[in-house]
Amino acid sequence: MISQGTKLIDIAKAARVRVVLPLPLSSAYDYVLPSHLSSPAAVPVGSFVEVPLGARFVVGVVWDSSTEAPVEAHRLKPVRAVLPAPPMTASLRRFIDWVAAYTLSPVGAVLRMAMSAPSALEAPGHAAGWRLGAALGQRVTPDRARVLAALGDGAAMAGDALARLAQVSPAVLRGMADRGMLIPALLPRASRFARPDPEHAGPALEGEQAAAAAALRTAVAAGTFTTTLLRGVTGSGKTEVYHDAIAQALRQGRQALVLLPEIALSAQWLERFEARFGCAPALWHSEVSPATRRDTWRAVAQGQVSVLVGARSALFLPFPDLGLIVVDEEHESAFKQEEGVVYHARDMAVVRARLAGAACVLVSATPSLETIHNAETGRYAVLDLAARHGGAALPEVRALDLRLHPPERGRFLAPPLIEAVNATLARGEQAMLFLNRRGYAPLTLCRACGHRLQCPNCTAWLVEHRAQRRLACHHCGHTLPTPPACPSCGAEHSLVAIGPGVERVQEEAAALFPEARRLVMASDSIPGPAAAAEAARKIEAREVDLVIGTQIVAKGWHFPHLTLVGVVDADLGLSGGDLRASERTVQLLHQVAGRAGRASAPGLVLLQTYNADHPVMQALVANDLAAFLAEEKAQRAPGHWPPFGRLAALIVSSEDALEAARAARDLGLLAPGGAGITVLGPAPAPLAQLRGRHRHRLLLKAERGVAVQPVLREWLARARLPNAVRVQVDVDPVSFL
Ligand code: ADP
Ligand code: ZN
Repeated sequence: MISQGTKLIDIAKAARVRVVLPLPLSSAYDYVLPSHLSSPAAVPVGSFVEVPLGARFVVGVVWDSSTEAPVEAHRLKPVRAVLPAPPMTASLRRFIDWVAAYTLSPVGAVLRMAMSAPSALEAPGHAAGWRLGAALGQRVTPDRARVLAALGDGAAMAGDALARLAQVSPAVLRGMADRGMLIPALLPRASRFARPDPEHAGPALEGEQAAAAAALRTAVAAGTFTTTLLRGVTGSGKTEVYHDAIAQALRQGRQALVLLPEIALSAQWLERFEARFGCAPALWHSEVSPATRRDTWRAVAQGQVSVLVGARSALFLPFPDLGLIVVDEEHESAFKQEEGVVYHARDMAVVRARLAGAACVLVSATPSLETIHNAETGRYAVLDLAARHGGAALPEVRALDLRLHPPERGRFLAPPLIEAVNATLARGEQAMLFLNRRGYAPLTLCRACGHRLQCPNCTAWLVEHRAQRRLACHHCGHTLPTPPACPSCGAEHSLVAIGPGVERVQEEAAALFPEARRLVMASDSIPGPAAAAEAARKIEAREVDLVIGTQIVAKGWHFPHLTLVGVVDADLGLSGGDLRASERTVQLLHQVAGRAGRASAPGLVLLQTYNADHPVMQALVANDLAAFLAEEKAQRAPGHWPPFGRLAALIVSSEDALEAARAARDLGLLAPGGAGITVLGPAPAPLAQLRGRHRHRLLLKAERGVAVQPVLREWLARARLPNAVRVQVDVDPVSFL
C-alpha cells in the first residue's frame, strides 16, 4: 500500500504540500509531491505522510494552513510515502490548531498528542485466532469441551479471548490445534470492538431523571453543538441519566466520548455501562497496552468504535463523527494536564464538541465556579437532579471540633469518631476514614538536632512510606531507604514521624478496631484498574468493614452498605491558600461525604477540624453549597479573579538559581501593561525547586474582555532569555505551586 516516492521529480512543476510534524515546531514545513502522488486526490489534506527531516524520516500530517514564507521549489524535498490510514478530519485539525493557539504551544506538540499510537498508521495486520477444525475421534476432555462450546457458533475467536472464555491455558489450544481440533484463522483487528446496544434494557427513569434524560436526548438528536451542565446531588443517578444521551448518539449512528478523571479506577462505571449497553466500551488511558492502543486508534478513525471512555488524552483521538462528549466530575483538577502542552480537558472538550457539531455534557455534584458562571450567563444549559435515587436521604454532616475533642497524644482519631466507627461496625455497616495524604507521615524530623528530611531536588519534605521502609518525594519520585540515623547530626533512633498519612491512620485503626476487616485504598496500594475492581468487589461483597483511603475513595463509588465517613483532616486543603483552596476543599469533601448512606440506611459524615467556623465547614454541615459558591463568587468578582477574569502563569525555571531569578526579573521588567491587565510577580514559586530546577512565577491577570494570548505572545517575543531557561506558559492555571 505504501507508495514510494521516486527520485525523478520535475521539482519546479511539482505540487507542494504543507506538513505539520509531531515535534515542538510552531509551523508547518513545505514538501513537494512526487509525480505519481501529484493529483490532489492522492494526498488529500489530513493525510498522514512520511517525509524527510534532516537525515531521518518522520510521519506528519498534510495541513491546510497557508504558506507564510514560500520556500523556493528547488530546495524542497519530496514526500516519501502516504500512509494507509484515514486522513485526519478537518474538525480534529482545527481542534489541534485551536489548542495550540490557546495554550501557546507549538502546533506540532499538540499534533503529537493526536498521534500517540504511531503503529496505527501502518496497514492493519490481522490477529491470530482459531476456529473449529473437522477432526473426529479425538478425546474430548472437560477443558477441550469448553473450548469447543466456546467456538460453538462457528465464528473464529482470538486466542487470548478464547482461552479466557473457556478457562483453559494457551497450551490446551495448541494441543487441540496439533490434533486438528482447531485450525488457525485470521481475525480483522477491529472486530474486538463490540457495538453497544442503545435498546438494551436500562433502569426505568422517572420524574426529574426522566426529564433530564429527555432533555439530553433532544440535545444529542439536534445534531448541533450545545453544552449542558448536568448537576445532581451525589447518588441522584447522573450516570444513568447521561447513559440515555449515549444511547441517543448510538441511535443517530454517531460516536460518543466519555471523559473520566481517574479512568483506571472506574471499575464500577464499566460494570454499569455493560449492564446498560450489553458490552464494554472502548478504553483509552495510560495503562492500555500498545497493541490495544493501535487497534483502538484505528477503530476510532474508521468509525468502528461507537463509545469510548478515556482520560483527557482521548480528546485527541480521530473520531470522524463525534455526536456527544460527556465530562464526568467536570470540576476535577485531574482534567488539567500540567506537563508538556498545558491544557484543561474540560474546557477543550467544549471546544472539540463545538468543532465537531456535538453535544457536550458536563456532569458534577459540585460544579466548578467556571462552569456555574457559564451556566448563569446562559452559555450552558442546566439540568438539575435535586434528590437521591430511590428516596435515599443525603447524609448528615457534622463538624467535629478537635479543640473540644482532641485525639490522644500521638493519635489522629478523636473519641467521637472512634465511637461512631464502633457503632457503625456494631450495626454491621461499613465505615470509611478519609485522609488525602499518601504514605505514613508527611514529615520526618530529628529529635536531637531538629533536622527535617528534605528532597535533594525539590522544595518538599520527604514522605515516609513505612511499609516499604523508604522515604519518597511526591513531586519528583526521588526515594531512599529510611536512614537508621539522622543524616545531619548522626544521632541514632532520633528520627520521628510528624503528622499522619493514610498508612498511619491504618495503623491506628488496627489498634482501635482490631476485629474490623480493613482495606487501604491509595494510589500506591491500588496501582491499577484490576486492583481497583477487586477492591470495589470486596467492599460490595461486604468482605471489608473499614475502608481507609486517599482521594481515590472520594470519586464516583457506590457502596450501598457504607454509612459512616470520617474525614481525618478536613482542614488539609485549606492551608495552601491559593485562589481555589476553599472551592476545591468543598468539592472534595462533598464528594467523600457523598459516599455515605447511598442506599436505605442513613449516612453520617464527621469532619475533624480545627476550623469548625470556616465557611467551608459551615457549607458542608448545612449542605448549602449554593450559598458557599455565592459567597466565593462575591469575593472573586471585584478583583476580576476567575471566572470573572482570566489568569495566565509564566513559570520560569533553570538549573542555575541565579539565572532563573535573573530571567524572571527580566520578564517582570518587560511585563505588559494596559487596560484590564495586571502582572503579579515575579516571585519564587512555592515549589521553589522542582526536579533540580529553580522556579519563579509571574501571574498575568486580565479582565474578561481581554484576549490574553496575543498579550502573552508579544511579551514572550520581547524577552531574550538564555537557552537553559525554560518558560512554561499555563493559561487558566489550576495549580499555583
Ligand atoms: P450519581 O452519579 O449521581 O452519584 P449514580 O448514577 O451513581 O449517582 O446512581 C446511584 C445509584 O442508583 C446507582 O447504583 C444507580 O445504578 C442507581 N440508580 C440511579 N437511578 C436509577 C434508576 N432510575 N433505577 C434504578 N437504579 C438507579
Ligand atoms: Zn523531589
